[in-house]
Amino acid sequence: MSLPSSSSSSSHLTRSFLLSLLFTSIVASAFSDNEEAQIHHFQQYLRIRTAHPDPDYTAAASFLLSLAHFIGLQTLTLQFAPNKPLLLLTWPGSDPSLPSILLNSHIDSVPAEPDKWIHPPFSATRDPDTGRIYARGAQDDKCIAIQYLEAIRSLKRSGFSPLRSVHISLVPDEEIGGADGFEKLAQSEEFRKLNVGLVLDEGQASPSDEFRVFYADRSPWRLFVKATGSPGHGSRMYDGTAIEKLMVCAEAIARFRDSQFDMVKAGISPASEVISINPVYMKSGTPSPSGFVMNVQPSEAEMGFDLRLPPTVDPEQLKERINKEWVPSFKNMSYTLLQKGPIKDCNGKLLITLTNESNPWWPVFEKAVISSGKKLAKPEILSSTTDARFMREMGIPTFGFSPMANTPILLHDHNEFLKDEVFVKGIKVYESIISALSSFNLASSV
Ligand SMILES: [Zn+2]
Repeated sequence: MSLPSSSSSSSHLTRSFLLSLLFTSIVASAFSDNEEAQIHHFQQYLRIRTAHPDPDYTAAASFLLSLAHFIGLQTLTLQFAPNKPLLLLTWPGSDPSLPSILLNSHIDSVPAEPDKWIHPPFSATRDPDTGRIYARGAQDDKCIAIQYLEAIRSLKRSGFSPLRSVHISLVPDEEIGGADGFEKLAQSEEFRKLNVGLVLDEGQASPSDEFRVFYADRSPWRLFVKATGSPGHGSRMYDGTAIEKLMVCAEAIARFRDSQFDMVKAGISPASEVISINPVYMKSGTPSPSGFVMNVQPSEAEMGFDLRLPPTVDPEQLKERINKEWVPSFKNMSYTLLQKGPIKDCNGKLLITLTNESNPWWPVFEKAVISSGKKLAKPEILSSTTDARFMREMGIPTFGFSPMANTPILLHDHNEFLKDEVFVKGIKVYESIISALSSFNLASSV
C-alpha cells in the first residue's frame, strides 16, 4: 500500500538549513559552510530516536522526506506494516530503461544504555577537540543515509545528471530481521518496477586507512540440542545421564569450534570466512526454592548454539557432522536446526556478489573509490547478517560498503561515534561512486 508523502516540513528544513549555515559561519571551522550543513543534517537525523524497541519511524520519515524534497528527489512512501514507513527516493536517469542503482540504508538502530555512554546516545554531541559525533546509529548506519543524500545534492548542484536512475531505499526493522522492511519490499511490485541492477548497502568501519567492502553475509543457523537420560541420585556414577550426554556433545562442538578458531588465530582465515559456533544457553536441573536440587541428576538437559556459515561452506557436510558426531540419535538425543534464509540464490548460485571482472559493476565501483583518493581492502564476507541478503537471494549484485576509514568498529557498542571529517570525506567518495555507476553505459552486459 502506498501513502501520500508529505512536504509540509520541507520549508521548516529549509529554514533550519539556512540557520545552520548562519550558525556555522559564526563559529570558526575547518569545514566549509556547506560541509557544516552536511554535518548538521547528520546530527539532526541522529537525534531522532529510532532505536528499538520503540523506534520513532514517523519523525525519521518526515525528516528524510523533507531533506529529499529540499534536494529535489521524487519520493514514495510505502508501508508494509502499521507505523513502519519505508521510503523510496528517486533521482531519475536520462535513460530509465537501464537497470538502476539502489542505495539502501536502514532507519532503525539497536538500543543504547545511556549510563554507559560519555554523551547521551541521542544527543549527537560533537566533540570540539576530536570531531567525534557520538550517537547510536552514527556508524550503523544513519551516516550512509545522509551521505547518499548529500552526495546527490552535491552532484545535482555541480550540474551532473545520471544516465541510469538512482534510488535510495530507507527501510525499517533491519535490526530485528527485516520482515516488515526490506524483505517485504523485495517481494513488492514497487521493487520490481525499480529494475535494480546493483545495490549498495551498509558495510563496516575500518580501523586502517583502507575502506572495507563486503560481497556476502554469513548465514545464521540456530541449533537446539536436547538430551534425555535416566535420573538418579547425585552421588551415583553411572552412564547415560542427560547432562553427561550433553557434555559429550558440547565437547565435540568445542573441538570443532577450536579447529575453526585456530585458523583465525593463525591468520589463515578471516573470522568471517570460518564457521562460528557459540553456546548461548544451557537449561537443566531440578529447581528448588533456594536454587537447584543438588542431589538429583536430572532426566533432561538442553543447550542452544548460534552458528554462522559463510556462503562458501557446504551446509550438507555440516548437517552430517551434527547427525553423526555432535548429536547422534542412538544416544537418546535430538536436535532442532533453524536455518534463517536460504543458502543459494533464486538461480541456485552461491549467495555472493562477484568482485572480479566477470561482474561488470565491480571494476567501475573499485575505480570510483580509488579515484576519490582512497584505498580499498580485499573484499570480505560480513560476519553478521544485513538486508543485503534479500537482494543477493534475488540474484542482484550487492556490495556492503560504508566509507569509514581510520575508525574503530563501534556498531552496537557503547559510545558509538563517527568523526566529522570521516563523515564529510565519505560524501565525496559517494559522489565519485554514484557518478561513475550511474553513468556507466554497458547496458548489454548488465
Ligand atoms: Zn546496520
